[in-house]
Amino acid sequence: MSHLETCVGCGAVLPAIPDGAIHRYMTSSAACWSAFNELSLLEHGAFAALSVDAFAVHHPGTLSPQTTQSVAIHLMVLHGVLKRGFKPSQALWLRSRPGRPSQMSKHERFHWLTPPDLTHGITVSDVIAAATPLERSTRLESWVRAVYALWSAAHEAQIAAWFNQFVIAEKI
Ligand SMILES: [Zn+2]
Repeated sequence: MSHLETCVGCGAVLPAIPDGAIHRYMTSSAACWSAFNELSLLEHGAFAALSVDAFAVHHPGTLSPQTTQSVAIHLMVLHGVLKRGFKPSQALWLRSRPGRPSQMSKHERFHWLTPPDLTHGITVSDVIAAATPLERSTRLESWVRAVYALWSAAHEAQIAAWFNQFVIAEKI
């Protein structure tokens, strides 16, 4: 019987992958990172463009300049699509806007948002476990929306303010 491991990010309980790879700062179990990589290969629906954003904020890691920036930017992408009428196909553009060169140093732009409790609800492994491609696409969208909802309940005003300042405004 394989040993089960709880993901420190999303709380998914999955068979452990001893010495499995994980992302450098999106801290997760190796099984969770593996499920995310599998999803990237399988899924090509509209919301697939947001799976990296959902995974990143579901596995925020701990405070550092890099994680602070990562969480802020990925939340802005989700906010743009789920709350401001942008399309998933614009995710790459949304992701690139907040890091535009300006007088303001990248590390002054954002501060660490304390993650809400992210360890309940649908996870990337639930998406992968879907029986059919259609079901997988449906679960993928549910996962993206659910993870953003957890963050927005805690930090919506800050995410919206950053979005206005760093994505919408002509100049940073
Ligand atoms: Zn996880």
